Amino acid sequence: MSDLTLTQTRDMFIYVAQGMQASKDLLTQADKAIGDGDHGVGMARGFAAVQQSLAGRAFAGLDELLKTIGNALMTSVGGASGAIFATFFRGGARNLVNAQVFDATALAAMLTDGLQAVMGRGKAQPGDKTMVDALAPAAQRASELRHGSLAEALVGVAAAAQEGVEATKRMVARVGKAKALGERSLGYSDPGALSLYQMLKLMSEYVGGIQ
Ligand code: ADP
Ligand code: MG
Repeated sequence: MSDLTLTQTRDMFIYVAQGMQASKDLLTQADKAIGDGDHGVGMARGFAAVQQSLAGRAFAGLDELLKTIGNALMTSVGGASGAIFATFFRGGARNLVNAQVFDATALAAMLTDGLQAVMGRGKAQPGDKTMVDALAPAAQRASELRHGSLAEALVGVAAAAQEGVEATKRMVARVGKAKALGERSLGYSDPGALSLYQMLKLMSEYVGGIQ
């Protein structure tokens, strides 16, 4: 069994927060290519705030934990991605009220509800070259793998998100700052999609490491 307790889930997100801060340069480069270059700095600042808001804290349920992450991002990231990634975590909490265990079913709920909230707020559709293009295939894969182990689900979900990031290279941006580039956005990964993939890869690393 690879299910996580609430405390382990908190520790997983602290690990994610550290990894996202270490991804600053990667995300900066991605946003310099087709945006304004602030994505790495914003996410690093945001996940430093997440780390601070989680350290040493106890939570009543997964919903409270995910909302705390969302709130930390909302008040610290800035840019379009601040609201988008905050909405992802807050929305992901929807069906996890008082949940005590993070398993493959909880992962599927978090990604499915998070996707719905992001699309509702940001209005991006699959194919518009945003983080939705990593999140939608990840949520789909999570839903297919929801009855298995969390470790296996996360491996599959991270791979689906990575394929989504690759697919954004073949997309012309229709949303956000990259939209102004039109066809010139072709050939580059979407920075937000890359962030979403990084987060899932870090979750998978953490869960794989405690088996
Ligand atoms: P900004 O575009 O304001 O500079 P960032 O550089 O931090 O903000 O983040 C850009 C990323 O945010 C994009 O790569 C994209 O993935 C994501 N994004 C922007 N707008 C939306 C939206 N409406 N829906 C989903 N994701 C979005
Ligand atoms: Mg930017």
